[in-house]
Amino acid sequence: MKIIVTGGAGFIGSAVIRHVIRNTDNSVVNLDKLTYAGNLESLSEVVGSERYAFEKVDICDHAEVARVFREHQPDAIMHLAAESHVDRSIDGPAAFIQANIVGTYILLEAARQYWLGLDDLRKAAFRFHHISTDEVYGDLEAPEELFTETTPYAPSSPYSASKASSDHLVRAWRRTYGLPTLVTNCSNNYGPYHFPEKLIPLIILNALEGKPLPVYGSGSQVRDWLYVEDHARALYRVLTEGKVGETYNIGGHNEKQNIEVVRTLCELLDELCPDSPHRPHALLITHVQDRPGHDLRYAIDASKIQRELGWEPEETFESGIRKTVEWYLRNLEWCRRVQDGSYQRERLGSPI
Ligand code: NAD
Repeated sequence: MKIIVTGGAGFIGSAVIRHVIRNTDNSVVNLDKLTYAGNLESLSEVVGSERYAFEKVDICDHAEVARVFREHQPDAIMHLAAESHVDRSIDGPAAFIQANIVGTYILLEAARQYWLGLDDLRKAAFRFHHISTDEVYGDLEAPEELFTETTPYAPSSPYSASKASSDHLVRAWRRTYGLPTLVTNCSNNYGPYHFPEKLIPLIILNALEGKPLPVYGSGSQVRDWLYVEDHARALYRVLTEGKVGETYNIGGHNEKQNIEVVRTLCELLDELCPDSPHRPHALLITHVQDRPGHDLRYAIDASKIQRELGWEPEETFESGIRKTVEWYLRNLEWCRRVQDGSYQRERLGSPI
């Protein structure tokens, strides 16, 4: 198979590409515009592979997207490219409407035109896999409630509303045009190569420098955390074995309050950095004003993907968070280059 991965220079997209190159014989075309969130240094492991190619393309550019389909003749597309940070969507929603809604529409149309030209065998095997979030479901009130694949959509932020719109477009292209689509909605990811504006890397890096550890409000917001490599395995499983037209929720069975996550990180850093002048790191925790429209609780029922496709996370929160902290401690250079912007100035690409 040749797979186009959009957003392959991002946090999850790069994990998907590393997974496919490491563990399968398939080829990957990474289609990414390289926004601030795109970092080719997360792909240094695969850049030398002849099964990897990079195309610096904006998913909103129809002509360029159509060219990539024409030239690479893919068997499938995994669509992860998106603006993804909720705080940024509150400050500037326009970029989210453009990339997440208009971009998905353009990709669907380019994929449909390409798919219509395939022979019957390749047409039947083609897949358009749209990667989405559990945030489209809004938040949960009752403590035992879980998001299932049939939970009605009720997004709260410009980010989640734009992702919800893109999910609707994908389902409409399935119903109206018969495009063979798959949709997955996943909980919060964490792990290596996570951009330092997100909670877990932000806390690790601030703690190492003795800076305040900002926690929104009381920190009682509950998220279900999934180790990013478990997500990458789940996505590949859905792409190759999922039933066309279906939606699969993906989650880690790891519900944690934000404040618990921050305290766990502080304890791990106390243990792994015994010489740190900032121990105990928990003293750096600082409560800041809550984000507007902040969802209180997300929790995923991932029983369908487990039952139908036999996928389960390999990492518990305890094992995954330890691996993550250890990875950041070993890769401070990757973090420094993100923080000082050198990852954008000296981008390493790969010949196609
Ligand atoms: P990310 O912000 O780390 O990466 C996004 C990537 O998309 C970047 O490489 C960026 O350059 C690229 N991109 C953005 N706009 C583009 C455009 N117009 N054209 C081409 N490329 C563009 O995001 P992530 O955390 O890796 O998330 C990937 C996907 O997974 C998103 O669709 C997100 O909604 C979804 N998701 C994320 C999480 C999470 O916890 N991070 C959870 C569930 C679902």
